[in-house]
Amino acid sequence: MADVYDVVVIGGGPAGYVAAIRAAQLGLKTACVEKWINKQDKPALGGTCLNVGCIPSKALLESTELYETARHNFFDLGINVGDVSLDVPKMISRKDQIVKDLTGGVAMLFKHNGIDWLQGEGKLLADKQVQVTDQKGKTSVVQAGNVILATGSVPIELSATPLDGDIVVDSAGALDWESVPSSVCVIGAGVIGLELGSVWRRMGSEVVLLEAQDTFLPMVDGAVAKEAKRAFEKQGLSILLSTRVMGSEVKKGQVVVSYHDSEGDHERTFDKLIVAVGRRAYTDNVCASEADVQLDERGLIHVNEYCETNVPGVFAIGDVVRGPMLAHKGSEEGVMVAERIAGEHASVNYDVMPNVIYTHPEVAWVGKTEEQVKSEGIDYQVGSFPFAASGRAKAKGDTTGLVKIIRDKSNDRVLGAHLIGPSASELLGQSVLAMEFDATVEDIAHTIHAHPTLSEAMHEAALSADGRAIHIGNRKRK
Ligand code: FAD
Ligand code: NAD
Repeated sequence: MADVYDVVVIGGGPAGYVAAIRAAQLGLKTACVEKWINKQDKPALGGTCLNVGCIPSKALLESTELYETARHNFFDLGINVGDVSLDVPKMISRKDQIVKDLTGGVAMLFKHNGIDWLQGEGKLLADKQVQVTDQKGKTSVVQAGNVILATGSVPIELSATPLDGDIVVDSAGALDWESVPSSVCVIGAGVIGLELGSVWRRMGSEVVLLEAQDTFLPMVDGAVAKEAKRAFEKQGLSILLSTRVMGSEVKKGQVVVSYHDSEGDHERTFDKLIVAVGRRAYTDNVCASEADVQLDERGLIHVNEYCETNVPGVFAIGDVVRGPMLAHKGSEEGVMVAERIAGEHASVNYDVMPNVIYTHPEVAWVGKTEEQVKSEGIDYQVGSFPFAASGRAKAKGDTTGLVKIIRDKSNDRVLGAHLIGPSASELLGQSVLAMEFDATVEDIAHTIHAHPTLSEAMHEAALSADGRAIHIGNRKRK
């Protein structure tokens, strides 16, 4: 007789493991099927985010930002250091240790919550039965009352630039080089291209990003995207827009990349090539045809606002369904689904979804951009404040960027907040909270912010919507 569970989650990334923990907290007998084998050849929980995504990339961003600060900014702060040098293998092993600690932490949480981790590949069969195939090919079947599909996403590959795992890599490969390449080409100037491009540029590589679109970061507010491009180019990232990559060829330990832009055809040789052109939902062999789970036209598992698929009792969450491919989005869906299975009335507020690009300066936003509100014909007003006028930013020696807040003129509600600058990822939190609580811009303007903090920039941006910011010259608006 097959083991019987109230909930079986397939996929143990930030969507799936969070769903499993919440389900277990609510008293549901829960199992999670996860097949990930890590760099040390061991089974691991945590999915893309913990193993090769959010966490390892941030570990390298942190190390390399400090390296850059030590080399270029300490002198200005009155600190003289001798030669600052890199120990790349140590940086990589520090990153690996963080991954090990956090993925091990999820396994501990599973134990603590009584969740069975079924190691292997899960496949949904008919009648909510789940087949598990372990590493040795042995299969077993468990019966679920409810199934949550959380199989995530994988990098999109380009047939013209095949990966070889060393010279031509995807984002995971670019987290593991143990020496600094003298030149790196990145296909795609999106979030991964900018974050990993920044890591290797800070270490000393010449970095060129080839981007197909003619607009830089089209999902970001125009004023912020413009400021970001200026800042990244000043740092030395070369960002080529409207560029069509024709192919790549590995030759004598390097890679020749051919591309076309408005000036014609080009061929350039680089030490390494990172392909970072987006990710696709991972649905390969996840559902048997008799399970009857529908995909949408883009190959994502089709779900409604509560992450219910067309099959009663089968849910799907995270990167494998519509919406931004973000860890916190998947986790919130996991909580919602677990709570709804337990009979609670949970939902996700998709309109208030924070986004961050962890470059320096950081880019962070929530809600609508100015371009969106304009095109929707909303009567809006903008308040903004530059970090150059912030006392704390000056004291830190980190004054690039601005805070911009957009309000609905009819009711003063926050429509969007857009930041570029120091600690923008952390500062974003107060705008997210404001939007979640339906606060007005006046509420933010009325809130006392500690001095001197970077958060005062948000306060001043809110004040500036009314022409009453204190630390910039602005006129009272009518
Ligand atoms: P995944 O994390 O992809 O997990 C899916 C899991 O399912 C995997 O472990 C996989 O092994 C398992 N699986 C798949 N099929 C099966 C099967 N049949 N049986 C068993 N197991 C299966 N997002 C952010 O919010 N912030 C960031 O800073 C950030 N940085 C990123 C940096 C990089 C370099 C990358 C690549 C991504 C980053 N992301 C970031 C995106 C984030 O990693 C994803 O949005 C997130 O991991 C999606 O979570 P998920 O649980 O849906 O899927
Ligand atoms: P992306 O969609 O952010 O960027 C991909 C870029 O590649 C786009 O600008 C696209 O126009 C370009 N592109 C596509 N095909 C191309 C081609 N043939 N030639 C040149 N350019 C091409 O995707 P990504 O950077 O790969 O990241 C994947 C996902 O992971 C994103 O959805 C993102 O949300 C998530 N992620 C999030 C974070 C974060 O939250 N900080 C960090 C990394 C990744």
